[in-house]
Amino acid sequence: MSRSLVRLLLVAGIAVGIVVLLWQRDVVDPLRPLYAVDAAPNGTRILVVLDTVRADHLSACGYERPTSPVLESLATEAALTCSAIAPGSWTLPSHASFFSNRDLPDHGAHSVVGGDEMGLATAETVRPLGPTLPTLAERFGERGYQTLSVSGNPVVSPDSGLTRGFDAVRHPELFGEQFGAQQVEAVRDALRYDTVDDQPLFLFVNIADAHMPWWEVPSGLDWVPARDALSWSGNTFWADFFSGALAGDEKTAFLAHLTDVYDYGVYRSDETLGQVLDVVREYGWWTEDTRLVVTSDHGEFLGEHDLIDHGHYVYEENTGVPVLVSPPVELPEDPVSARIVHDLVLEGSVTTAPALSAALPHTARFERSGAFGKTTAGEWTDDGRVLWDADDGFDGEPSETLEEYVLRVRASGVATGELDPDLAEALRAAGYMD
Ligand SMILES: [Zn+2]
Repeated sequence: MSRSLVRLLLVAGIAVGIVVLLWQRDVVDPLRPLYAVDAAPNGTRILVVLDTVRADHLSACGYERPTSPVLESLATEAALTCSAIAPGSWTLPSHASFFSNRDLPDHGAHSVVGGDEMGLATAETVRPLGPTLPTLAERFGERGYQTLSVSGNPVVSPDSGLTRGFDAVRHPELFGEQFGAQQVEAVRDALRYDTVDDQPLFLFVNIADAHMPWWEVPSGLDWVPARDALSWSGNTFWADFFSGALAGDEKTAFLAHLTDVYDYGVYRSDETLGQVLDVVREYGWWTEDTRLVVTSDHGEFLGEHDLIDHGHYVYEENTGVPVLVSPPVELPEDPVSARIVHDLVLEGSVTTAPALSAALPHTARFERSGAFGKTTAGEWTDDGRVLWDADDGFDGEPSETLEEYVLRVRASGVATGELDPDLAEALRAAGYMD
């Protein structure tokens, strides 16, 4: 062997060794495309749901705590409304509306209360999104897109019907398993292993950091005190709150703690959003014609109306969510349904949907609280909001739209058949059922 060949092999060997070493240390990634992905003529489309993030607790929407620096920064080159109405009161019905572009009675994905009394949880099951309505992912698929769903919320899974049409799906089994850095890594893995280079990308991401269980708040933040983590499991506060056992100073202290860990969850959600977008850029999917849409599926009660949690009454604390679109397009006048995100991300323009929302009971939570035993619906109009409560009827003058909507909610609310065992397990794991 000639001396120069030996030298060449030696140099090549060292070079390969260095690359492997850097790869192991995550400094370089040989699987990553070396050039920017050419997704033209259809740029990357991204829909992010910040789970459980109520608009009025975002600094981007005027909240006094600095909970959303990333959204604030995005908003400088985006259209943002802070008064959109979530179409459902919890993850399943709202995501079903985002994906099917239909309201709850039409897509039928929700908790279903049967029996004679619509307002009482006499029997319950949960219906997944059925197989018939076309989904957002399917519509993107028809247009030649590859479609990825990466959810930190376990409900956005094949068992709930929500991921129908996605080419690749990543989700945890439990809340809290895929928050923060784990969710960022899940997006990284999806972009690394689940994509091809020559097809445009539709990426759906659910960031669940603001959902229970809430993280410990570390010391050193100047806007929120250090706090212990807070979770329903192994805790009686939830039952104590609704039974009235929690009262006076103890209740005030509990709600302050809840608000702090929730606000920190909102802050972490915003931070995770920023990191997810960094990963999208890192992998070359952020192109000049990328369209980003951000919203939330519902809010969270923090003691208002003497309620905590979400999924029951359709007051603004549960239904008031943001909608952000970048680059900016003209958004309809408020009030607007958050299900406009379907058209915003698919078409870049809006077909206005009436701002309607409904909540149907969860039996497991009803047994613990009584607060989840009602079916409520609401319509937001220029004149304000009209609520319907299964026990009390309408609060105000219902419009034709709301009356018709309520009739359809009622008609869709008859429990039939058995709950799919896989979905039941997922919902149990997520704390929605006993
Ligand atoms: Zn949710």
